[in-house]
Amino acid sequence: MDRFSVSVRSQFRGIYAALASLVFPAPCRICARMLDTGNRIPFCHACLTTLTQELSQPQCARCGRPIVSTAVIESASPPQCHLCRLATYDFDFVRSFGAYSPAMARAILLLKYTEITPLGSWFAHQLVKLAKQNIAEFAADVVVPVPLHPSRLRERGYNQAEQIARPLARLLGIPFRSYLLVRTRPRPDKIRLTHRERWETVRGAYAMHQRAKVDKMCVLLVDDVFTTGATLDACSRALRGAGAVRVAGITVARALPSSLALDAAVMVQDQE
Ligand SMILES: [Zn+2]
Ligand SMILES: [Zn+2]
Repeated sequence: MDRFSVSVRSQFRGIYAALASLVFPAPCRICARMLDTGNRIPFCHACLTTLTQELSQPQCARCGRPIVSTAVIESASPPQCHLCRLATYDFDFVRSFGAYSPAMARAILLLKYTEITPLGSWFAHQLVKLAKQNIAEFAADVVVPVPLHPSRLRERGYNQAEQIARPLARLLGIPFRSYLLVRTRPRPDKIRLTHRERWETVRGAYAMHQRAKVDKMCVLLVDDVFTTGATLDACSRALRGAGAVRVAGITVARALPSSLALDAAVMVQDQE
């Protein structure tokens, strides 16, 4: 098919989507208001605006946590958060796209339980913008999604981190390797985990696949939410143990102290 007919087709698809939203009005999957956009992401304009708000600056040089205390900024250059100054994390660099707001929590919940494939791709496009702001830090040999335990994967049918990581790898032109890491211990069934439990349940819960090779490689880990950083830390330790020289992480959302008070929907999401 020539380029002209491809462009006509894509234009037609756009017009069709806009008409379809008029003829078959659908609610926004976040706020339930009528959709006012014609794109393939079932979110209204207001919700999309909320979702695309970037995290505030300045951020911790290592983990990307927004830094609010000016004392920290003045005392260290480049600035690091309390946890990074204590050398808590094994990974070298992490950035997240947006805050884990109620709207974001809802969007990620949809990604987890409804397999809206365009949503993974939409998130990947947002993460590319973030990657382009940190080109050197995100330079990698492979893109690896944070894996689910096989029992969880069977239950859900797909890994939501993979839904984001696969299109992201394609957009960045980096090989996608979903099999390198495996989760060897499942998450406990308890819905909400405390801060300490989050660390304890993932410690040593990830391992390299038998035939995986990451020796002297730079790895870009992808996950949906950065909550305590324990998951990315555990994955990073497994990769580092197998010889990875550099581990960077990128997530769609970042839980901040202000976003901890979320609704019941988020508690369901907390299950992994
Ligand atoms: Zn909405
Ligand atoms: Zn930090």
